[in-house]
Amino acid sequence: MEIPENISFIISRLEAAGFAAYAVGGCVRDRLLGREPKDWDVCTSAEPAAVKGVFPDVKILDTGIKHGTVTLLLDGGVEVTTFRVDGKYRDSRRPESVSFTPNLMADLARRDFTVNAMAYSCRTGIIDPFGGREDLAAGIIRTVGAAEERFGEDALRILRALRFSVTLGFEIAPETSAAMLGLRHNLGRISAERVRAELVKALIGGKVKPQFMRLREVVAEIIPELRPCFGFEQRTVHHRYDVYEHILTAVDSCESREPAVKMALLLHDIMKPAMYKFKNGSAHFKGHPAAGAKKAADIMRRLKFDNKSIALAEKLVRFHDVRLRGGLPQILKLTRLVGDDDMPLLFAVMRADTLAQSEYRRAEKLALIDAGEANYRFALAHDLCRSLSGLAIGGADAAELGLSGREIGAALNCCLNAVMNGKIKNERAALLDCAAELKKRWHNL
Ligand code: ATP
Ligand code: MG
Repeated sequence: MEIPENISFIISRLEAAGFAAYAVGGCVRDRLLGREPKDWDVCTSAEPAAVKGVFPDVKILDTGIKHGTVTLLLDGGVEVTTFRVDGKYRDSRRPESVSFTPNLMADLARRDFTVNAMAYSCRTGIIDPFGGREDLAAGIIRTVGAAEERFGEDALRILRALRFSVTLGFEIAPETSAAMLGLRHNLGRISAERVRAELVKALIGGKVKPQFMRLREVVAEIIPELRPCFGFEQRTVHHRYDVYEHILTAVDSCESREPAVKMALLLHDIMKPAMYKFKNGSAHFKGHPAAGAKKAADIMRRLKFDNKSIALAEKLVRFHDVRLRGGLPQILKLTRLVGDDDMPLLFAVMRADTLAQSEYRRAEKLALIDAGEANYRFALAHDLCRSLSGLAIGGADAAELGLSGREIGAALNCCLNAVMNGKIKNERAALLDCAAELKKRWHNL
């Protein structure tokens, strides 16, 4: 197995000083899968002070010194962690204490899944006491040791199992998934930040549908608002899936790796069950985008997303169902509401939503989105007026015409609409005429 130079340097220095040292965890897993590891972690029998002694010439940060982790600043940061065993877990979250051990096997045994519990050094080759390689080859996430016990110690592992199965495209071993479902209520004890981090990694890391369908009760544990969507039949020609399966299909139909986009898709139809009406032989969900936008923002606030992501997802949910007609005026108005930068994200959401519907008029729906996006690009390329600030007259001009107070904003908005509708040109003279005309009519002169 090939490992980066800084990692083999760290391992061989520690070995030369008489310690055991290995690359461990996710990097070994990813390398065996032929993937580029995100980061390389090293574990060693040396305690933090000893690690520092071995690298007097390297800058070292005390990242988590109590837990045995220091970061060596060598071509970026490399975390070096002392072999350890976890003490008792009391609250399904974190061990009360950790203690160091000279024993690699004990360190590997505390790790969550077989595929994450392998170590490697050039000297020893791969050390794999729990059948991680076999599970990697078969594509299986399986806990190290008894699943009930391991999820009971730390409920976050339930979400980690879900996340790894999504990002690796793996199945979950039957006893492992049974324990995930059995202990899902413990997820309530996990902090919102950690829940969110796992959720986002899953959403942007692979196809969520297979596992989010199977383990929907785990998903509902972190977003209970999704539960009404489970099995909720849509009863319209536009849909072939129930609301929940439609939602997941939409998430998977979108290539974006922007968390807010994926969250918007996960939540875009969340208020459909609540807004359901059956009329003229078909289901209708009038008002679900606006109600869904509010609900999405609530959920994301609870999961401690940052304000920018919340605002973006809220907007994407609010506008996801706008019926595009393809024309330029509608696109200019939509761009005004959504903002230049976020329009491509809205088109991505609309496409994913469409791809997750039935095939009824699909080509037509997609063509309208394409046309809308082409018009959006045209508007940008030609700097077509799509905001009050782009209008060739301003508040001062309107005031000079004798308009006052609220009339000014109203007149400018009318002018802007007329420009976006292509009725008048965005030129001073034409706009001043238009504003003067408005004033005359408002005042019945
Ligand atoms: P990623 O690609 O997301 O970094 P990773 O496997 O490296 O995946 P990390 O969260 O970086 O995951 O953790 C590094 C290693 O530490 C894991 O491979 C696993 O062996 C162990 N580990 C992490 N979190 C837990 C946990 N909650 N319980 C048990 N072991 C864990
Ligand atoms: Mg990692």
